[in-house]
Amino acid sequence: MVDLQNFINGQFQAPLDGTYLENRNPATRESLGAVPDSKAEDIERAVTAAQAAFPAWSATSPEQRAGWLHKIANSIEANLEEFAALESQDQGKPISVARTVDIPRVVANFRFFAGAILHEASESHHRPGSINYTYRKPIGVAGLISPWNLPLYLLTWKIAPALATGNTAVCKPSEWTSLTAFRLSQIMADIDLPPGVCNLVFGTGPHAGAALTGHPDVPLISFTGGTATAQAIMSASAPHFKKLSLELGGKNPALIFDDADLDRHLPTLVRASFANQGEICLCNSRIYVQRALYAEFVERFVAAVRLLKVGDPSDPLTQIGALVSEPHWQKVRRYVALAKELGATVHCGGDVPELQPPFDRGFFLNPCVFTGLEDSCPVIQEEIFGPVVTISPFDNESEVIQRANNVRYGLAASVWTQDLSRAHRVAQALQSGIVWVNTWMNRDLRTPFGGMKASGMGREGGHYSLDFYSETQNICIEF
Ligand code: NDP
Repeated sequence: MVDLQNFINGQFQAPLDGTYLENRNPATRESLGAVPDSKAEDIERAVTAAQAAFPAWSATSPEQRAGWLHKIANSIEANLEEFAALESQDQGKPISVARTVDIPRVVANFRFFAGAILHEASESHHRPGSINYTYRKPIGVAGLISPWNLPLYLLTWKIAPALATGNTAVCKPSEWTSLTAFRLSQIMADIDLPPGVCNLVFGTGPHAGAALTGHPDVPLISFTGGTATAQAIMSASAPHFKKLSLELGGKNPALIFDDADLDRHLPTLVRASFANQGEICLCNSRIYVQRALYAEFVERFVAAVRLLKVGDPSDPLTQIGALVSEPHWQKVRRYVALAKELGATVHCGGDVPELQPPFDRGFFLNPCVFTGLEDSCPVIQEEIFGPVVTISPFDNESEVIQRANNVRYGLAASVWTQDLSRAHRVAQALQSGIVWVNTWMNRDLRTPFGGMKASGMGREGGHYSLDFYSETQNICIEF
């Protein structure tokens, strides 16, 4: 049991009004401790601390800032097992995922931006008698808001570039999953990161989150979360003309053509649908299969899904853990019930597994595969964000492109074919910020990451992050 405290100006502080939320392990419903239910006055303190730290931090050299980021990365790496166990208990994810995906990526985020800032170069434009050069400078206090699915992975994808570019930060992780962010603040205290450079305030979106996005002295907000929340953030930011990066939901299609190499790619396709209980914004949720391969695909895919091991997240062999919370578990189950009402064929899952105590009280769901639904139905149009996929047949390329694009989202898509020309043609026609061909979640941190349409605004990664967290100035000199 850990009772969390806010980390403001290098000090651990209780929320000013003394109120807390209970944090529960979603696999057992057992209490993990208390999380501050911070309010606007806690955010105010954190913003004041971050503003006070900004002049000195923004004046440090890139080498100094890179040094701090490496120190943080080294400390997390030295405690990787502890971080992985905390993330698994707090979020419900299998320990194997926390150990091999979440926490290694946290370390990589800090190391990547520590390196990136040292290799940053700016442009100059020359004409007879004058020269323009591009000067990038830090902006001020960055407001960083992250969701519950990949808790520290996504939060540090924001903290690392924000600090590397010389900003200070106030962070608001999801109150469902704050444990590893708190552990990170302990590391920042242990290494004596200058006070106020990175502040963590725990609490809910409507209280702490809204106070941060509406704060007039926070000129930049990076948000990862749901599309509806992003609309509220855009409204709160508009009066202040804040710089915004919005990484939002998805309803990602996989387009499987009849020449796809199923022997090679079937395990990846299963992982792409159900990794982290389907609670990854990049997971496939709509699978379209060309008709000649359809029956074989459904049979082989369902057989593989049935073999997934659901249960105790701390068991290294578990592949599907618990969903993050009771409200989310209920939401996913409502979509399963709706699909059945609409006449879908249930090939497997959608029911609650029978597990031994204490896991019989957890928010588990067997991974679920549906066929037989119309593209226009809510199960195919809306983001479910759980272990549920639909499979539908298609006849030709233009039809499947049109159907894949026919949702409000445009985050990630995948194309499975051995025809190189078709791979390029289809990938370029998809309305999707990210397209993978014969692979999934193959991430190079230098590439632009982000969504089209209701999946977001702006791109992060590599120099896209460095640009977002900087103010760009053109300086023209005549000689
Ligand atoms: P939410 O939008 O509910 O919450 C995200 C964060 O915003 C949380 O910290 C939340 O706090 C906070 N928040 C809520 N309301 C406000 C507000 N009015 N002002 C400021 N902050 C607020 O998303 P979830 O946590 O449910 O995460 C799931 C969503 O995130 C899915 O839609 C998923 O697709 C998306 N996502 C997108 C990714 C991408 O890179 N494109 C990656 C991962 C997830 P609280 O927890 O208290 O509600």
